[in-house]
Amino acid sequence: MKQLENKVAIVTGGGSGIGAATARLYAAEGARVIVSDIHEESCRKVVAEITAAGGQAYAVTADVSDAQQCEALIASTIRHYQQLDIAFNNAGIGGESNPVGDMSIEGWNKVIAVNLNSIFYCMKYEIQAMLPKGGNIVNMSSILGQVGFANAAGYVAAKHGVIGLSQTAAIEYAERGIRINAVGPGFIDTPLLSAAGMDNKVKQQIATLHPIGRLGKAEEVAALVLWLSTEKASFVNGAYYAVDGGYLSR
Ligand code: NAD
Repeated sequence: MKQLENKVAIVTGGGSGIGAATARLYAAEGARVIVSDIHEESCRKVVAEITAAGGQAYAVTADVSDAQQCEALIASTIRHYQQLDIAFNNAGIGGESNPVGDMSIEGWNKVIAVNLNSIFYCMKYEIQAMLPKGGNIVNMSSILGQVGFANAAGYVAAKHGVIGLSQTAAIEYAERGIRINAVGPGFIDTPLLSAAGMDNKVKQQIATLHPIGRLGKAEEVAALVLWLSTEKASFVNGAYYAVDGGYLSR
């Protein structure tokens, strides 16, 4: 028996990196997956891969920094699959790299909108769709939701915010059968790092910050997200789970 048989799951930022790896894993475990991304082509490509492997998935293009598009994403999920059991709110960007005094107002607002506001917008409509049957939400934070990191104040603030937001919603909906948790990856080798301007040399330096001595892989995060999304984690609620090769243990 597959672990997510008869479940419907949404993955935001599902067109690349950690989101794509999780969408593939959810589908391999029997879920029908809504793969959502701001980039239409990338989510269609992941859907095609899942379908070719014998899974079920459907692409919905949405910019999760826009509340109306989040509402429409959840509405299309219900229209297409008639239910929603699991959501992995994962879409995110690295954002502007500057110290606080030089960070632009636009850069700050953008990273807060994509990495934090989106989690509130998605959860608001996901929770409405999951009630009264219950469900399960995993939100994407980061090791940078626990500690600071120079030149990334907006990103760090957003990822800290995701943890508090997840804990609060977890308390509010626990009795109504919705579990809500946050995950915190260390540096994972995905296109996000290259988009943040990290070449191989910088990646090697960053890798040394992890006691395990390397960057993480998207599939290693997906494995944790899958576990949190199953009944195996039935008593796990309002938690922050690191998947960081020991980064926060130093
Ligand atoms: P990625 O760039 O491979 O994937 C991010 C996806 O989000 C992309 O497909 C992108 O198109 C999508 N996206 C960006 N803005 C969007 C928007 N407004 N609406 C909808 N989709 C949007 O990066 P990744 O590393 O897989 O990142 C996934 C999440 O993991 C992010 O929230 C990121 O902050 C977080 N994270 C990444 C790392 C890392 O080192 N890679 C570490 C900790 C946390």
